[in-house]
Amino acid sequence: MTAAVIDGKAFAADLRARVGELAVAFEAKAGRKAGLAVVLVGEDPASQVYVRSKGKSTVEAGMNSFEHKLPADTSETDLLAVVEQLNADPAVDGILVQLPLPRHIDEQKVIAAINPDKDVDGFHVTNAGRLAVGQPGFVPCTPLGCLMLLKDRLGDLSGLDAVVIGRSNIVGKPMAQLLIAESCTVTVAHSRTKNLPEVVKRADIVVAAVGSPEMVKGDWIKPGATVIDVGINRVAAAEAGKTRLVGDVDYASAAQVASAITPVPGGVGPMTIAVLLRNALVAAYRSAGLELAADAI
Ligand code: NAD
Repeated sequence: MTAAVIDGKAFAADLRARVGELAVAFEAKAGRKAGLAVVLVGEDPASQVYVRSKGKSTVEAGMNSFEHKLPADTSETDLLAVVEQLNADPAVDGILVQLPLPRHIDEQKVIAAINPDKDVDGFHVTNAGRLAVGQPGFVPCTPLGCLMLLKDRLGDLSGLDAVVIGRSNIVGKPMAQLLIAESCTVTVAHSRTKNLPEVVKRADIVVAAVGSPEMVKGDWIKPGATVIDVGINRVAAAEAGKTRLVGDVDYASAAQVASAITPVPGGVGPMTIAVLLRNALVAAYRSAGLELAADAI
């Protein structure tokens, strides 16, 4: 058996197109564009690439992008003042502070300062709490993107056994909460889990969010399972001096056993920005008091 490839790139392009249509409708109803503010502190090259690409995608989706680039030596107090200013700005529906922040700034303090109703990354404890108790809020983009791919592939997830490998606040924990809400039986595995291959073998759904190149092998996977690979790891390529991206799953062996699997790249990765745009648009509809059907996006 060779697994079907879950095309996250195509799904994300479709989601972005739907966001674009709803952004046009928002502008017509609200008399202004939806707006997403991105704050970057310092010159980390990877963060600069992410911020540029988020800004470009925001504009392409018909929303305003407000970029705030602050020097690496910006004080915590000054950063908190920028967040406060964005909280108070009615043109800004969503606020994203690009992580990681320089070491002299307390990330948790900055996230806590964002108005939870503008926290489109879903990292504020209020949004983590809302997710845990099933209230509407904002869910972190990567796990929400994984759930969209799973539901698109499998439909109703009710009663399925799911194993999430990784327990980070950004991916593993919210992923587990989302799957519980879909009535899966969820196991969260992590660095101290015993007999990980046996634990994974029980799962109808495997979500790997570890950061360990090709760790999950094909013989860990239950035949017919659906595999979502969140990992993005850069490793040496066969050609000297070149690198390539691999996931946390050993794709070649897992694809022999699974019924469907996300590739790396082109699987979960493209979903993250698409869901960010979705969250920003939802924030705009909510802040303007406009209806957005639950299944609209
Ligand atoms: P993290 O480092 O915060 O968490 C990793 C988790 O893996 C931890 O909970 C740890 O307990 C667990 N772990 C570590 N070693 C393990 C082992 N040997 N066995 C089982 N569990 C183990 O990482 P993160 O932020 O959750 O990201 C995980 C991966 O997903 C990384 O490769 C990251 O680059 C990628 N990622 C991708 C996207 C995307 O857009 N596709 C977004 C976020 C993260």
